[in-house]
Formats: sequence, structure tokens, C-alpha cells
Amino acid sequence: MSFDAIQKRLNDLQTKGKLTEKEVSYLLTPKRIHQKEFTLEKDDGSKETLKAYRVQFNDDLGPTKGGIRFHHEVDLDEVKSLAFWMALKTSLSNLPYGGGKGGVEVDPKGLSETELERISRGFIQVMAEHIGPTKDIPAPDVYTTPQIMAWMLDEYEKIKGEHLPGVITGKPLVLGGSKGRSYSTAQGGVYVLEAALKHAGKKLTEATIAIQGFGNAGMHAAHILHKLGAKIVAVSDSKGGAYDANGLDIEAVTAHKEKTRSVIGYAKDVTTEELLALDVDVLIPAALAETITAKNAANVKAKIVLELANGPVTPEADKLLYGKGINVIPDILANAGGVIVSYYEWVQNQMGYYWEEEEVLEKLKKQIIPPYNTMYELSSKEKFDLRTAAYLIATKRILEAAKLRGRV
Ligand code: NAD
Repeated sequence: MSFDAIQKRLNDLQTKGKLTEKEVSYLLTPKRIHQKEFTLEKDDGSKETLKAYRVQFNDDLGPTKGGIRFHHEVDLDEVKSLAFWMALKTSLSNLPYGGGKGGVEVDPKGLSETELERISRGFIQVMAEHIGPTKDIPAPDVYTTPQIMAWMLDEYEKIKGEHLPGVITGKPLVLGGSKGRSYSTAQGGVYVLEAALKHAGKKLTEATIAIQGFGNAGMHAAHILHKLGAKIVAVSDSKGGAYDANGLDIEAVTAHKEKTRSVIGYAKDVTTEELLALDVDVLIPAALAETITAKNAANVKAKIVLELANGPVTPEADKLLYGKGINVIPDILANAGGVIVSYYEWVQNQMGYYWEEEEVLEKLKKQIIPPYNTMYELSSKEKFDLRTAAYLIATKRILEAAKLRGRV
């Protein structure tokens, strides 16, 4: 989503939250922007110059934290928006972190393992001086994996000449990753969804669900929800979707995707647009930003939209969905499970002492439900949509810290 759209959202928030112009301007100003270029030597010997970004948006609450994305559409504007959301996300979840984000403008599809490794190491070579366990801690995001985090960690440690596993999270377990991290984004979303369904007087076992995006966030959500007894009627990936009104067998869909590289062809094919318009209880956008827009919001029939992706609902669509009585659980809470367990990973790295999966999940639930409740209560009391309530709680905490530091 464009940073302009975020600015518009904050202008709306200014009136509702009685924020001063100075406060809004402070909240919208990124602290540091790092823009670099590095050369990728391809397997065929040819060379390509790639653009790399790291935006450290706000660090009032602690070191900046946020993922690194490999995608052909990555640009500074997008990284800025994502970094801003990270600042709100860490604040809302009461983490001792600020917000940041990074990316490399590259199409990772079609790249070999060795090319991906060179990109990962190249990113760290140009950014190493700006990141660190007490400065800025990256993590995975779209098309970046635990293996990529491992290469990045290795490159950083080579440059620094010491072991510093807390510089990056989302690592493989053997390199200091946390148990539960791989599916934590989805798990956090499911905890929040269970709370929202309870408020709506609906049981998860009676709910029908459609999920757009079948990667880390969407696929794990599908597995967890399927195991809990919810009926997943449709899932999709970048090639298209699969639909079965009686519910999909998610294990079988995953096996089909592993074999054919897509979910299409498993059941009745559906397009993304058809999936978004299905008559379901819960719609989970778990792919990229700006999926539900002014053009298709009127078609959405779900009662709850759980934003596992970052920025899947545009500000215009937000208003239309709210007008239709649809509850949109905002990304800054719905997908915060990832950064929460990343925080636990970092804590374990700093201590050098590792927790069991059960302990991680218990802590995650205890960390994500209170902000959900606070958001829900504020939204009910003030008649705000959930996103406005979440933004107000998050920005208030950032401003409190900034004021104590004498920055605003
Ligand atoms: P991923 O790369 O693992 O998966 C992305 C999925 O989206 C893939 O299945 C891809 O095929 C699908 N997709 C792409 N374009 C699509 C389209 N037009 N229609 C349907 N599907 C499409 O990425 P991920 O880590 O699962 O991230 C997905 C979203 O969740 C992103 O917005 C990301 O920022 C957000 N998120 C992820 C995490 C995490 O821990 N992975 C944490 C917070 C937020």
C-alpha cells in the first residue's frame, strides 16, 4: 500500500484520537532510510545490479524489528509503509521494539539456490553496519525463508567476527530459531480469530472459511484451522484457487501443491475474485497488499475478515466493509504472531536458553489476546472500527515513549 494511503489513514485518526498535528507528523516521519545497490553475479556469469532497502521507521520503544522481502515490486514507498505498520504492530503487542522493514527488488521465482544465497549475503554486506541485535533485527517476509535467514546470519557473523544469533529471527532451529516460529503468524491469527468468533457468538467448528494465499501465513492458517475442525471451503495461490463447499482436505491440498506447485486442479477451480466473494463466515487474505479494494469490497459476504497479509484492505474498502457491518481484524494485530514469536526467538538468543514449543505457544496466546481485548473494548465504546481502535492504542504507546525521551 502506498505511503500516501497511510498518511490519509493517520489524518482520519488525528480527529478521532485528538492527536496534534505535531504528533501526527512525528508518527509519519521515518527515523532512518537506507537505500543501497549491490551486484548479483548470476550462475551464467552475467551481472545484475539490485536495489536494497531498509527503513528503520520508529525506535522509541526499542530496536527496530521487521522482515525482509524479495519481490519484483519492492520499492521505497512499499518498504516505508511496511516499516510503519511494524512500528504499530510491535507497539500494539507490547513488545520492546520499534518498527522497520527491508526488501530487495528482485523476482525470486526462477532464481537458483546459489543466486538466492548471493542475494541474501549481498543484502547483509551493504546493510551490516545498520543492523544488529540491539539496533535493528530483520526476519523473513514474502519469498524469504529460514534458509535465507541462515545465510544472512552467517554473513553478518563473518563480518562481525563473533556469534550474534539475535541479529535476525526466523532462523532454522539448529541456528537458534525458536520452536513454534515457523507457523506463529498463522497461530497468532487463529487465537485472535477464536476470540472474535466468540464475540460473534459463533463456534470455530461451525465456521466456513476462505483463504487467499497459500504460503507461510495462509497455508499454516489452513492447517491449524482445519485441525481445529473449521471448514476451509477455498484456498488460493498466485495461480488460482480451489473450492469445495463441503470443505477441503488441507493435507491433501498441500500434497497437491507440493506436487504441482499450485492448489489449482485439486478441486473446483476458482479465481481470486470469486474466492473473495464467497458466502463464508471468515475471509482470510494472506497474500499481498490491496486485495480488497473499492472495486470488489461490495462483493465481500464474509462476516469477519482476518488480515493475515499486510495491508490487504485499502482505506476506501475499509469504509465500505465497515458500512456493511463486516469486522475487519487489522493486520497489525491479526498477523502479529510472527513478530511476537520472533521476539521470543531473540530473547532466547540473548539468554542462550531455549524454550519448549508448548511454552512458546502459551506465551503467544497470553501476549496477543490482551491487545485484542483492549482493541475490541475501545472500538465498542467509541464506535470506531477495529483498525482505528488498534491504531489509536499503538500510536498512543509510541507517543508516550517519544515524549518521555523528549522527542515530541
Ligand atoms: P509467502 O511468500 O510464503 O506466500 C505468499 C502466498 O501468496 C503464496 O502462496 C503466493 O502464491 C500467494 N499469492 C501471491 N499473489 C497472489 C494472488 N494474487 N492471489 C492469491 N494468492 C497469491 O508469504 P507469507 O510469508 O505467507 O506472507 C503473506 C502475507 O503475510 C504478506 O502480506 C506478508 O507481509 C504477511 N505476513 C507474513 C508473516 C510471516 O511470518 N510469514 C508475518 C506477518 C505478515
